[in-house]
Amino acid sequence: MKDRLRAEIEARREDLIALTQDLIRIPTLNPPGRHYRDICDYLDRRLLHAGFETELIRATGAPGDSDKYPRWNIVARRAGKHPGDCVHFNSHTDVVEVGHGWTTDPFGGAVIDGRIYGRGACDMKGGLAASIIAAEAFVDLCPDFSGAIEISGTADEESGGFGGVAYLAERGYFDPARVQHVIIPEPLNKDRVCLGHRGVWWAEIETRGEIAHGSMPFLGDCAVRHMGAVLDEMERSLFPALARKRTEMPVVPEGARQSTLNINSIHGGEPEQEADYTGLPSPCVPDRCRMVVDRRFLIEENIDEVQAEITDLLDRIGASRANFDYGLRELHRVLPSMTDRDAPIVTSVARAVEEVMGRAPDYVVSPGTYDQKHIDRIGRLKNCIAYGPGILDLAHKPDEYVGIDDMVEAAQVMALSLHDLLGPKPA
Ligand SMILES: [Zn+2]
Repeated sequence: MKDRLRAEIEARREDLIALTQDLIRIPTLNPPGRHYRDICDYLDRRLLHAGFETELIRATGAPGDSDKYPRWNIVARRAGKHPGDCVHFNSHTDVVEVGHGWTTDPFGGAVIDGRIYGRGACDMKGGLAASIIAAEAFVDLCPDFSGAIEISGTADEESGGFGGVAYLAERGYFDPARVQHVIIPEPLNKDRVCLGHRGVWWAEIETRGEIAHGSMPFLGDCAVRHMGAVLDEMERSLFPALARKRTEMPVVPEGARQSTLNINSIHGGEPEQEADYTGLPSPCVPDRCRMVVDRRFLIEENIDEVQAEITDLLDRIGASRANFDYGLRELHRVLPSMTDRDAPIVTSVARAVEEVMGRAPDYVVSPGTYDQKHIDRIGRLKNCIAYGPGILDLAHKPDEYVGIDDMVEAAQVMALSLHDLLGPKPA
């Protein structure tokens, strides 16, 4: 049966290509969140035809949801003949902005030298298409399977997932009583099993001063100079300390196997004027300066310590610097997530990779987060991985593509894993 499944997927190669092209041609740009309904309607037709029951769910009231840009999601389910586990494939349908530097039409889906090009080709419409082909081939060849297969297409992963997986998880769609195994076909490469991701803590640091005329700065207090002291202390003590924190998580790329901090932005003084403003700036001492930091942390770290690291740093500056006053505001937090290596979905997909690729997979952890965070924290479902075709480094770049052979092989792995989890059990 396993050989027949692999051959069946190979035989559906043209269907897989056409499906991926169709998905790329629906320009589901986020923000603002365009054409979510269109892509859900497309998936609805496809999956109804394949014998799935479908449900379209609008994340009414979620961040970004409006009548102009409604957050539509689809959940499709096909029940088997016997009781058993449910395997769920979750893909986000949104893509990020196109950007500059394309040599192909970003929404054309051109096939060139064995690759399909377009925004979202690898992140992650190729993965979505591979999971649909895998499920369709499996139910056609093993119609008396046990349990159930679910396929969801969800909104807003690129902007936090609140109108997508988080919304569904809050409504029980990822309850472990309903779903037992989740594969997220993000582009982590066809021979890698992604167990989870590092944690995130975003915060805004504000330094405060006093406004005065720029010709007499001694009458005010410059908030930008205070922020300079923060930057200085970060360079002196924080960045070296973060570089010393190494993790046991198999994060790729290697450079992310430590704690990191990015300074997303700094704004101080009067706001920048419109491009068509032809006058001069005014002479003022800035009384506010704000910095947004993006701290990525490890499973070995505790979020309270991550926060304390910054407050301690600010308090240290305050102890030696006159009139140093600051504010600190948390913007966003996600705890790290890592599925056990011996979890059933991990071992099942690993066996399938070995059968298709002839070697054991690499186990990796993503430097950034993805929708697994909501499945883990809200859904309380731990048996979840990311596995899908495509090269992560191409995501969000110009001339994004997905390799057709990679999609075929990833679909074979998914189908073999379905057979392993839902197929007839050896007597
Ligand atoms: Zn993605």
